[in-house]
Amino acid sequence: MQSRRTRLIAGNWKMNNGIGEAAVLASRLGELVGTAPEGVEVLVCPPTIDLSVVADKIEGTDIRLGAQNCYWEKSGAYTGETAPGMIRGVGALYCIIGHSERREYFGETDADEMRKARALIDAGITPVFCCGESESVRESGSQVAFVCDQIKAGLAGIELARADQLVVAYEPIWAIGTGKTATAADAQEVCGAIRKTLAELFGEQIAEGVRVLYGGSAKPGNIAEFLAERDVDGALVGGASLVAEDFAAMVARA
Ligand code: PGA
Repeated sequence: MQSRRTRLIAGNWKMNNGIGEAAVLASRLGELVGTAPEGVEVLVCPPTIDLSVVADKIEGTDIRLGAQNCYWEKSGAYTGETAPGMIRGVGALYCIIGHSERREYFGETDADEMRKARALIDAGITPVFCCGESESVRESGSQVAFVCDQIKAGLAGIELARADQLVVAYEPIWAIGTGKTATAADAQEVCGAIRKTLAELFGEQIAEGVRVLYGGSAKPGNIAEFLAERDVDGALVGGASLVAEDFAAMVARA
């Protein structure tokens, strides 16, 4: 079923591309998807150090800019961190938070993600809140309960005035960078449950408007299946977002 929500195809470059490569990739994306198809929003999330150069290269196109991480304080003695206001200052409108790599390798907790979400919304940036279960949780069949608990633990304390202040990305950890994808039905099961949980937290109207993305080995050959599902509004794309032609093909199929 076609949803009423604007689709969002988001590239998560992760820790790839120095400044020169970032400039080349962003320019190429400007050529290929600088004019976004009707009803589709295109987002690129480069490493923090590349944000300015990518902002320059995509200026005047429809491509939106996002960061991959932030800290929740506005400024101060937090060596190595980047404040939401600084990210907003280079023109980013989105910021990924709670990615499983941040939770696993950098020890981030649900409480951290909630502070980040709140600080980003205050700075006028839309958090792209990631959630998703491990392989063992999936094997035990408790993925829906697990992910809904993550949503509650990370988002229950925030206030939303509008649906466009939040994006959620469902990324089963066992599908990230592995070439294994969830089936479209797997994605729908969890994305539908996420929307129900959002309705409990923020009311039906906001929940109906929040974009819920699928992520995990999404690529040109499988994106259409995911997007055919009622509660899947786009994709958070890792590996395939590093190749301009692949990413553009995904945008074209959205
Ligand atoms: P992948 O990464 O597309 O390379 O699996 C997705 C993500 O981690 O956001």
